[in-house]
Amino acid sequence: MEEETGTLPPKSAFSEWYNELLWRAEIMDVRYPVKGLYVWYPHGFAIRREVYRILREIMDREHREALFPLLIPASEFMKEAEHIKGFEDEVYWVTRGGKAELDIPLALRPTSETAIYPMYALWIRSHADLPLRIYQVVNSFRYETKHTRPLIRLREITSFKEAHTVHATWEEAEEQVRKAITFYREFYERLCVPVIVSRRPDWDKFPGADYTLAVDTIMPDGKTLQIGTAHHLGTHFSRTFQILFEDKNGEQKHAQQTCYGISERSIAALISLHGDDRGIILPPDVAPIQVIIVPVIVGKRKDEILAQAASLATELRGGAYRVQMDNRDLRPGAKYYYWEMRGVPLRLEIGPRDIDAGVVTAITRDGERSVLPRINLGEKVRDTLSGFEVRLREKARHRMEDGITKVTSLSEIPPALEKGIAIIPWCGERACADKLAQQSGGDVLGIITDTGKSVRKEGSCIICGEPAIPTLMGRAY
Ligand code: ZN
Repeated sequence: MEEETGTLPPKSAFSEWYNELLWRAEIMDVRYPVKGLYVWYPHGFAIRREVYRILREIMDREHREALFPLLIPASEFMKEAEHIKGFEDEVYWVTRGGKAELDIPLALRPTSETAIYPMYALWIRSHADLPLRIYQVVNSFRYETKHTRPLIRLREITSFKEAHTVHATWEEAEEQVRKAITFYREFYERLCVPVIVSRRPDWDKFPGADYTLAVDTIMPDGKTLQIGTAHHLGTHFSRTFQILFEDKNGEQKHAQQTCYGISERSIAALISLHGDDRGIILPPDVAPIQVIIVPVIVGKRKDEILAQAASLATELRGGAYRVQMDNRDLRPGAKYYYWEMRGVPLRLEIGPRDIDAGVVTAITRDGERSVLPRINLGEKVRDTLSGFEVRLREKARHRMEDGITKVTSLSEIPPALEKGIAIIPWCGERACADKLAQQSGGDVLGIITDTGKSVRKEGSCIICGEPAIPTLMGRAY
């Protein structure tokens, strides 16, 4: 491998920084010849694997993973009226097989309700089959007409984790939506990504849902990114797809359903929030390489230094760390640059002086340098990594808090939106939301809640003066 040249634009120029970072850190290659489709480089894919390992670990506690087909017959897709209306402009259709026109056109799933629910109708018979909780991690396709952006706005969403649950009562489904939010909070906590949860206004909910909760974060440019949603579907789909169960009294009832999803936007948030002018920064939990060992070869002790570095690597791997040793024939500075760009949390350097002193020099990706005794190195590495993770999480949390401003008048909204999110008093009426959007240049994201329940009244609506609910406004991606 050759030395890299050129530098990353400063993170303060976020858009340019993001675009350059994706290829310099080898996350995505944007040169694939179809608009809105991108290629995961091996390093990006390794990050994806760690991120989704955590997501699966959380989901597996009370869901089971399954896999449904990519193609959905038009006859199923067109059954639920609101759902069709919500997606009709975004669906790719397969209309031919070889030279023959298909009898029934097939949709590439934009989301999988209409692939999964006809099967649920066959699987569910009685209350004993409930609750049913299944998820899958799949690609899905949406014909985006807006400007596409890698990991954020795609025509092929490559990593859609969608969960679909079925319950006996509306309240149990409501509880599941609440739990989905706690799963997502835990997931983002592990990614050190701070989030804020709100209930989307009715005109912005999922097509075919009773209500939608959404998880947002604030990107470095002050815009908000929706990085998770959870929907109470009520009986919208169970009526359409005849998902019925026999309750304890022998009565046939329509099932209550939920669905909730996370995509590779989680990775867009991860790399955008933590990265700096030198590249990406990965929390240890999701770093494909947690420790990079760089032998510092000077003078005649090359073999001894390489042997020491190798034994260090073996020892740490035994301690279950993901470790790599960089013994390429490059100057140390070039190696540091290379691994910093790719976000490795901890670099260990070992040279002749370290060997003589019985130590290793440790540098975390945020620039903290320490000298660790060679004895019991595994423990020291663990402490160093966990200290680094705490700093990363705290830093991101502080920036999020700084980006949220409580406002009480219209004129305060635009400066608050420059920084991130404005919390405004809003009455809940669409006419007022439209005025707010027009006059401030932002979007009403939703009322603040983790549970979906309507929240305490507080203050009066900025537009009409009626009793208001604390509501998030932002400029959404
Ligand atoms: Zn109002």
